[in-house]
Amino acid sequence: MPVAQRLAPFGTTIFSEITRKALAHEAINLGQGFPDFEGPDFVKDAAVAAMREHPNQYAPLAGIPTLTRAIADHWQTRTGQELDPSAQVTVTNGATEAIAASLLGLLNPGDEVVLFEPYYDSYRACIVLAGGTPRCVPLRWPDFRFDPGELARAITPRTRAILVNTPHNPTGRIFDESELRSIAELCHRHDLIAITDEVYEHLVYDALHRSLSVLPGMGERTITISSLGKTFSLTGWKIGWAIAHPDLTRAVRAAHQFLTFAVATPLQHGAAAALGAAEWFYADLAKDFRGKRDLLCDALESLGLPIVRPQGGYFVIADHTGFSKVLDRQDDLGFCDALIERVGVAAIPPSFFYEHAELGRPFVRFAFCKREETLRAAIARLERIGEAFGSA
Ligand code: PMP
Ligand code: GLN
Repeated sequence: MPVAQRLAPFGTTIFSEITRKALAHEAINLGQGFPDFEGPDFVKDAAVAAMREHPNQYAPLAGIPTLTRAIADHWQTRTGQELDPSAQVTVTNGATEAIAASLLGLLNPGDEVVLFEPYYDSYRACIVLAGGTPRCVPLRWPDFRFDPGELARAITPRTRAILVNTPHNPTGRIFDESELRSIAELCHRHDLIAITDEVYEHLVYDALHRSLSVLPGMGERTITISSLGKTFSLTGWKIGWAIAHPDLTRAVRAAHQFLTFAVATPLQHGAAAALGAAEWFYADLAKDFRGKRDLLCDALESLGLPIVRPQGGYFVIADHTGFSKVLDRQDDLGFCDALIERVGVAAIPPSFFYEHAELGRPFVRFAFCKREETLRAAIARLERIGEAFGSA
């Protein structure tokens, strides 16, 4: 087995696995979270123009100044806080690289990182890659809140950081003020760093999203990560960023310089144009996604798949146990395989997002970042689920 021991336990990501099965069975793919529609022309046009008009050579390590400035302006519009883009903003290859660079730049061997499960799958793998140890705190169905006592107990003298994702993938939870405060309080008490993944910051429906970094005293100890992919439906561009105090930014850049050094220059010009979008763009985006959310969630509920309606993001978790009980393999993987093969719809088995995999087994994750016609076609197929599973 040539794969390094520290990576071997993580196997192939479930996203590639499910997308492969979806293609093989011509299933409608509500698995991997990518839109089946295009991002805005004004953003693509800016990248095309940059490719023709600007040098196509390495960008500066931290990002082109027009983009780091646009990220700082976007932050100021959202939070009222001014940033020094040259010392506090780093452009990365998607949020995924920002997460990796933060962990690799900060952790020493044996350091512990507290995270919530379910989690975006790269978190745990990157903690391990950086020589750290993950400590998971569960978000439990049906409210997906964490127990503050459980969070406090996960902290040990080895804890270096807490990794937070809000709005959350896969549950759609947006941490409220009291949850953010309890995380901040623990960071102060134990001198911890917070790493927050806010890639769904603009996909917010029934709650307000607030950055942990704006809470009193948190600016100096928080790395805030976001990216272009979700907000502008350009997941293939992989443009992300990390915002942090200059000391933490030095740690992020210490890793980023050797991971990738810099990010595709013309796409950075496109990203700068994107972040110049008017406020109505973000409002329209949230309205549009709310419609998609409700279309899919209403259908799942009426089909007998209980859901928790997400407050943000573009995924919904449903309880599959009413249907999977007739299967030979009744866990999430068994359900998702049967759904692909018998119904023709692909979804993600969320046990891959848990250290305690059993917590995810009764559930399935659907993505609703799809055209209305795709969602309607998937719903039409899902209407046959009773028949398809009844004949198991
Ligand atoms: N964080 C979360 C919570 C995500 O869901 C995703 C991907 N969908 C990412 C990070 C990765 O973002 P990017 O594509 O910008 O690397
Ligand atoms: N973040 C996306 C999801 O959760 C997919 C990311 C990936 O394919 N690695 O579906």
